[in-house]
Amino acid sequence: AWNFSAGPAALAEAVLKRAQAEMLDWNGSGASVMELSHRGKRFMELAAATERRLRRLLDIPSNYKVLFLQGGATQHFAQIPMNLAPEGGTADYIVTGIFSKKAASEAAFHVDARVAATSESTDFLTLPPRPAWRLNPQASYVHYTPNETIRGLEFHEIPDVGDVPLVADMSSNILGAPLDVSRFGMIYAGAQKNIGPSGLVLMIVRDDLLARPPRPIAKILRYAEQAANDSMLNTPNTWGWYLAGLTFEWIEQEGGLAAMAERNARKSAMVYDTIDGSNGFYRNDVERAARSRMNASFVLHDGALDSMFLAESEAAGFIGLKGHKAVGGMRASLYNAVSPAAVEALVQFMRDFAARHG
Ligand code: PLP
Repeated sequence: AWNFSAGPAALAEAVLKRAQAEMLDWNGSGASVMELSHRGKRFMELAAATERRLRRLLDIPSNYKVLFLQGGATQHFAQIPMNLAPEGGTADYIVTGIFSKKAASEAAFHVDARVAATSESTDFLTLPPRPAWRLNPQASYVHYTPNETIRGLEFHEIPDVGDVPLVADMSSNILGAPLDVSRFGMIYAGAQKNIGPSGLVLMIVRDDLLARPPRPIAKILRYAEQAANDSMLNTPNTWGWYLAGLTFEWIEQEGGLAAMAERNARKSAMVYDTIDGSNGFYRNDVERAARSRMNASFVLHDGALDSMFLAESEAAGFIGLKGHKAVGGMRASLYNAVSPAAVEALVQFMRDFAARHG
């Protein structure tokens, strides 16, 4: 099957095959990696090698820590303000879709979460123009979502927010292209799109943010404690960590993030060209300059055809094309593991479907 699911999403076939081959005997241990102690030498080496690979891929500066956490991105919507803002503090949120809106509303339990800019009035089909952002220079941080997964709305530039640390939820676009990590105070991502299985959260955080005075919260929720304990305050998601490492290795073998960016640009252009060239049979209403390279959403000119499109596409071997329930329509998620051949097959199917039903 060709998997276009928004998440949990496809992993690279090479990664899955390697995991399958190593399932019962990982690294000569005679056991599955899932069965080994996270404190044992073998797993500690795996964890260190995985971090080194990620640091190479993203060229992560030495004043940033890499954490492998749990709880999904959603838990960190709440945990981030607990860690980065003092009690009674304030933080700015840029709201460009359902996930950034949720991040702001979860944060509001722990910080004065101000919406400094929003594109809700366009139903999140556009990005709020940077000059209109009302940023507070006293804010503890500015939070934004570089790629809103549901609409497929992406910032193609990192916004300049002055000296206030920028915090980014990169759940759906991390590792899709090279990134200047030094522009951020914190980057975090649920793993289940471009990294590995759900249940793992990757975080890259600058040292000075970890040194902010802690609130009286449980140790397990404190990023500084996790950093001081190699993300092993409790039993980590060892299986997810291992698969993340295999994915990082695969990305390196494929030519690194520049190669991923080139592939992703090519894949998304194929889908958007097909939509735009369909004489209105398919439509994508997202502001052109902010179309996502990871999630291409589209509607059919006649909603009555939706169920037929889904049934026929599934019968042809395409899975996960149904759009998010909040917005309907279709969505082709084009994460790193989706091959150009899969996208070629999809656009061929879309053209055939339009020819038959147009
Ligand atoms: N943020 C973004 C941008 C997402 O796409 C998702 C979807 O998975 C989430 C947050 C929620 O992540 P999780 O399910 O890991 O909490």
